[in-house]
Amino acid sequence: MATLDSKLVGVLGDRTTKVLRDLFGYTTVGDLLHHYPRRYLVRGELSNISELNEGDEVTILAEIFSASSRRLQGRKGNILEVIVTDGSAKLSLTFFNQAWREKELKVGKQGLFAGKVGVFNGKRQLAHPDYELIADGNDVDAAVEGFAGKYLPMYPASAKLPSWKIAQCIELAIGALDEVPDFLPESIREKYGYPTLHQALVQLHNPVDLDTAEKARQRITFDEAFLLQLLLLTRRQELKNLDAVARPACSGGLLDTFDASLPFELTAGQREVAREIAEDLAQPHPMHRLLQGEVGSGKTVVALRAMLSVIDNGGQAALLAPTEVLAAQHLRTIEKLLGPLSQGGMLGGSDIATQVTLITGSQSAAARKDALALAASGAAGIVIGTHALLGESVAFNDLGLIVVDEQHRFGVEQRDALKSKAQNPPHLLVMTATPIPRTVAMTVFGDLDVSTLRELPLGRQPITTHVIPVLEKPGFLERAWERITEEVSQGHQAYIVAPRISAGTPEDSDIDFLMGESSTEIASVEELGPLLSGGALKSVKVAPLHGRQSAEVKDATMRAFTDKEIDVLISTTVIEVGVDVPNATVMVIMDADRFGVSQLHQLRGRVGRGTSPGLCLLVTSALAETSARERLDAVAGTLDGFELSRIDLEQRREGDVLGVSQSGGRSHLRLLRVLRDESMIEQAREDASRILEIGLSQFPLLATELAEIQADAASEYIDKA
Ligand code: ADP
Ligand code: MG
Repeated sequence: MATLDSKLVGVLGDRTTKVLRDLFGYTTVGDLLHHYPRRYLVRGELSNISELNEGDEVTILAEIFSASSRRLQGRKGNILEVIVTDGSAKLSLTFFNQAWREKELKVGKQGLFAGKVGVFNGKRQLAHPDYELIADGNDVDAAVEGFAGKYLPMYPASAKLPSWKIAQCIELAIGALDEVPDFLPESIREKYGYPTLHQALVQLHNPVDLDTAEKARQRITFDEAFLLQLLLLTRRQELKNLDAVARPACSGGLLDTFDASLPFELTAGQREVAREIAEDLAQPHPMHRLLQGEVGSGKTVVALRAMLSVIDNGGQAALLAPTEVLAAQHLRTIEKLLGPLSQGGMLGGSDIATQVTLITGSQSAAARKDALALAASGAAGIVIGTHALLGESVAFNDLGLIVVDEQHRFGVEQRDALKSKAQNPPHLLVMTATPIPRTVAMTVFGDLDVSTLRELPLGRQPITTHVIPVLEKPGFLERAWERITEEVSQGHQAYIVAPRISAGTPEDSDIDFLMGESSTEIASVEELGPLLSGGALKSVKVAPLHGRQSAEVKDATMRAFTDKEIDVLISTTVIEVGVDVPNATVMVIMDADRFGVSQLHQLRGRVGRGTSPGLCLLVTSALAETSARERLDAVAGTLDGFELSRIDLEQRREGDVLGVSQSGGRSHLRLLRVLRDESMIEQAREDASRILEIGLSQFPLLATELAEIQADAASEYIDKA
């Protein structure tokens, strides 16, 4: 008999074992049993093709009428189109990049096909349907009768291993399986009426009915949420137990002096968050706090106050920024905010003053040498930098606080690389302006405490956003350029954002990902510049900014823009995050449909930062009623970053939401969906914290399961390093 840990070789043939390992990386019975069916084919619920409605989940019995594959136009890949008929009507089945299926989907073959009915070019179709072909020579009625009352599981499959073959393997594995011990505490299982782990595995693969299958699926999904929360809560507890140097607020130091000189009042939200941070810093254990705040809510000054508190206690702070533009801006802003307090060691500088320095990848060797020396000696209380800060040559005298700005660009691994530069575990403040729905925060940042800044500083003007559909309303674009000219004549400034640097390849861009396929029509900085400065924007001073320019050029351009020597910046997304020029009031985003929802929200956050209202124009050639236009309308329709980040997350794959650290290995989330399963995640979090209160030692099976996951996670981490 077998357990979940038994090797597959003992249960299946050598050849199949090898295929499973090569295809999916499965080596144990447990791995295989966690390969869940996508859906079930149900004999009793066959539909007529003529009666299918868009959006229905259907199973049909039909015969293959034709099958042909062709290359996709203007894109990589091919499409296989199979037409089936059930006598009542025809239906098209499509498969992308699965030409191999043509071999088995032969004309005249009959089978059961299941999927969700979609409409493409006015025709109903099933994209990537699951199917089970009826073997040649079988009497169809008899074959279909064979399914009567049975729920055939359909598995994610491939050419080498079709679904029915996987079903066979799983049947063998279940047949050989001993009673599986259940790690889920019985009280929790009973509370939700879940089946045991053994029952759940059996029922998921071989259900008596769909309700039972659903309950089994819920149980396994809950397991994923529960184990993840246990993992995160234990990690959080472990972090809390580490020793760190306490850096409590002290009077008469930098922080006090700074507060007295601050040209504005902190908002109530800023004061509240500042208090939370001060409490954390006063502890002899490291702070692990996430500060999420709306774009423009004033996170920088909150972070700066934390840094000053650390410097007052003899330590240093590192500020990690995702781009050179932002790092350079932080240097300017912080030096400006600190005034004489940043002139440490200089003639006339105050006694308590410190120094601020910058480390980036593209600075000159001389500048870098100076900066490295200031960081290593401790003379620089604040060291700002890009990922260059993580480099081996960077050392600190006493690194007490790490602030990570715009965390959505940095992974946990980078956080850890910087931490290793401190003698004692440093305090950590992670900031993000992409507000995160509660459960995502709970899963992705579950080991961090969360502070939220929702309110914007007083006097901030709202941003108005309009979509400009150039194909439908070509005249509107002219109007946009006029609007820029008007704003400039009133002393304001503007941004024009394009998805590309030049009219070249799609890689020639500062965006992480371009949505959809590439097209040469997409606006680029290098084309727009001459076009506009020779035409619609003749009367204003225009300058380009993008990631292919040297750090000096970028920095000089940003400075000139800040100093109002440039009226309009034509830029890629290098200005996406953090850039703060309150005098800029208009932003025109070209081919806005190429950007993600949160990205657009970030971008437009660059305007309306002063006392004049901001205007953002989303230019697109996407047509009305397409999903691209819906996304743009959503951005235009709300300024609530939380709502927009939800829309954004719903469109991403789970792996993208959770990042690398939570995918792969045993902790791999196969069924859990962070947004869909919100209430389950919240329950799981409560249950997990109650179990930890009682003590894991009371639940030996659970403790073992968790230890295995931790070991897996650790080994993955080592693999990556
Ligand atoms: P974000 O949270 O997006 O990083 P910043 O920290 O860049 O925002 O702050 C945006 C702007 O608001 C800056 O110019 C900053 O000086 C200003 N600011 C911050 N706090 C206040 C406040 N309490 N009152 C007025 N202006 C503020
Ligand atoms: Mg910021």
